Amino acid sequence: RPDRYEHLRDMPSVTDDDPPVPIRLLGNIELAQEASQCLDRGAEGVGLYRTEFLYLNKTAHPTEEEHYAAYASVLQQIGPSRPVVIRTLDLGADKFSSVSGAVSGEKNPFLGLRSVRLCLNNLDLFKTQLRAVLRAAVFGDLRVMFPMISTVDELRRCKTLLNEVKEDLEYAGIPFKGGVRIGTMIEVPSAALMADVLAREVDFFSIGTNDLVQYTLAADRNNEHVANLYNPADPAVLRLIRMVMQAAHKHKIDVNVCGEMSGEPLYIPLLVGLGLRQLSATPRKIPEIKRVIRDLKIAEAERVAEHALTLETARQVESYLRKQFPPEG
Ligand code: PEP
Ligand code: MG
Repeated sequence: RPDRYEHLRDMPSVTDDDPPVPIRLLGNIELAQEASQCLDRGAEGVGLYRTEFLYLNKTAHPTEEEHYAAYASVLQQIGPSRPVVIRTLDLGADKFSSVSGAVSGEKNPFLGLRSVRLCLNNLDLFKTQLRAVLRAAVFGDLRVMFPMISTVDELRRCKTLLNEVKEDLEYAGIPFKGGVRIGTMIEVPSAALMADVLAREVDFFSIGTNDLVQYTLAADRNNEHVANLYNPADPAVLRLIRMVMQAAHKHKIDVNVCGEMSGEPLYIPLLVGLGLRQLSATPRKIPEIKRVIRDLKIAEAERVAEHALTLETARQVESYLRKQFPPEG
């Protein structure tokens, strides 16, 4: 059926305030080919490129040239002045464990050697990707982001490694861009709790609610038997999100939400009320989110968030939001 939000594509993503407050909308992609869909749907760039999908249908690790070709292609589709956030490999647990060098037989893979931990344990793998990222950065506004960071030490190790890779490229005379912005995902409760410390290390945060919800409530995001516990509206999750937003604002760094939560119209007023001014969602959700934003006033969003934070259960939060913002017919 025709897209009911088609007319919004070229309208700005701003609130219904005077003056209007911009809420930047970015797209999540898994494959390089999807980049142009972000712009087609009215997003301003790519807020999360899940690079582990370079492993889709593959039995071997991608080469540096394969990484580079994919990133260069995304930047060329998005253009030189719009942001493209490349997330480093988030392999293991639910994602491509069979080809990634993840240890098999871990009893708790979600608590094991996954994601940035796996990369820091396989420096060749990590450096191959970082070289390609820095080389592709010459094509535009590329930003690099590390997933699953749980301590400040880990983040510092990633930054050190990035600097080493810059030196290697410099020494070899290979063209690259050194001044890329660096961000960290906040998707582990320890990172949310330490957000004020992590904020001094990076240019931006991106809150990954899919993992943050699972780790906060100790409920596997893919296990139907605990699906009743897995809820982004849980007050414990809201408190962590608020904490992260406050730390980011205090240290004047950008904060984004890139989990499924920010693609859900019901949660948009709540997130904006908590201080969110930028989010990243699957491209097909962008027009509907923009519709919600264009009808929203900041004061109203803040009132809603403030009340939501006084509630005690996820169900109460959800029914409160539904009452405040009945779904469009
Ligand atoms: C998240 O955890 O919210 C996230 C965006 O990352 P992924 O879904 O790829 O784990
Ligand atoms: Mg995640």
